[in-house]
Amino acid sequence: MMRLPKTDFYAAQSVEDACSVLANYNSGAKILAGGTDLVPACKFRNLRPALLVSLRNVSKLQGIRLHVGEGLKIGAMTSLYQVRNDPLVTKLFPALAEAAASVGATQLQHMGTLGGNLCLNTRCIYYNQSESWRKSRDVCLKMGGNVCHVVPSGKRCYAVFSGDTAPALIALDAQVRLISNQQERVVPLSSLYTCDGKNPNSISKTEILTEIIIPEPVSKQKSTYLKYRMREAIDFPLAAAAVRIDYNDDRCTKCKVVLNAVDSAPVEVEEPVDLLNGNAPLDQLIAQFGEKAEKSAHPVANTAGSQPGHRRKMAGILTRRALQQVFETSGLK
Ligand SMILES: Cc1cc2nc3c(=O)[nH]c(=O)nc-3n(C[C@H](O)[C@H](O)[C@H](O)COP(=O)(O)OP(=O)(O)OC[C@H]3O[C@@H](n4cnc5c(N)ncnc54)[C@H](O)[C@@H]3O)c2cc1C
Ligand code: SF4
Repeated sequence: MMRLPKTDFYAAQSVEDACSVLANYNSGAKILAGGTDLVPACKFRNLRPALLVSLRNVSKLQGIRLHVGEGLKIGAMTSLYQVRNDPLVTKLFPALAEAAASVGATQLQHMGTLGGNLCLNTRCIYYNQSESWRKSRDVCLKMGGNVCHVVPSGKRCYAVFSGDTAPALIALDAQVRLISNQQERVVPLSSLYTCDGKNPNSISKTEILTEIIIPEPVSKQKSTYLKYRMREAIDFPLAAAAVRIDYNDDRCTKCKVVLNAVDSAPVEVEEPVDLLNGNAPLDQLIAQFGEKAEKSAHPVANTAGSQPGHRRKMAGILTRRALQQVFETSGLK
């Protein structure tokens, strides 16, 4: 049995309490949410935090509420299971409900939180291994070394971003609130991700992600999240696409596609504005988005069970399927 390394534990009672502990501990502390990713990472000695600061008792970080004029606000410690089953989420933002429902399996969704899913570390077959396995190779960039076993000529770590809910929330234009002892800021979720597998997000070591805010749809909206993985349960994505369209009675006015698991951050596919403005046939829009998705995906050989070329193709296929699905349910022709 793998044991946790010796680590201190602190159960914070409020956001302020957690912030001051993080500030006092410099960079030696890590926030513990559901622990479904952090605890295995500590057991594998990928991470060795001196202190784990649990947010489990901070009731302010739980729950889902609609604030008219501001949007749907979800506390960072809300479980993925609650997110997937919430009537407001399933009605207004199905892409988020579907993404939460696709994370691992039901047990993980009960323990895992939305905040933890957004702050998920990147993954690589050379990193997510036990310490003894890793010892047989040179220490790679993500563990503080100088080499990358996947892209030897690369200048950064290419570990893959796999958190399922981030692309769905980016497609829905979500923002996040971050609080530390020093400041409070609300930023677009998309701006958090750095596309560097070693330090995948720009949240500082003393900040806590407290809340996710999804703006209310201003027009009719449809969204979905499609995921490709080895098995229909448990597995991380090998490629995925979140899609959201806004539309009125006769045409689509906005179309957002965000890919997952094909780079070190969620990848937004550029909107073919000329086609949207020109009221092009939906078939043409779908085909063009699929093509752009395939070109925007840059997977490398660091996941088990699928080759990069296949994952790139799947990014295009999932994009086309997802768009077809939302257009069909919208009734647009
Ligand atoms: C077998 C297995 C299968 C899995 N499959 C999937 C999958 O298909 N898709 C997927 O997306 N994930 C998957 N996961 C990973 C994980 O279960 C989920 O991503 C889960 O949502 C992580 O949330 P958590 O609350 O457990 O985070 P934790 O493990 O507690 O934390 C994860 C990271 O986020 C940081 N953090 C947590 N909360 C905050 C906060 N509020 N502010 C700042 N930083 C914070 C922590 O310090 C840590 O670095 C899987 C895990 C396992 C073990
Ligand atoms: S992509 Fe390269 S540097 Fe990053 S974890 Fe994998 S082997 Fe290490």
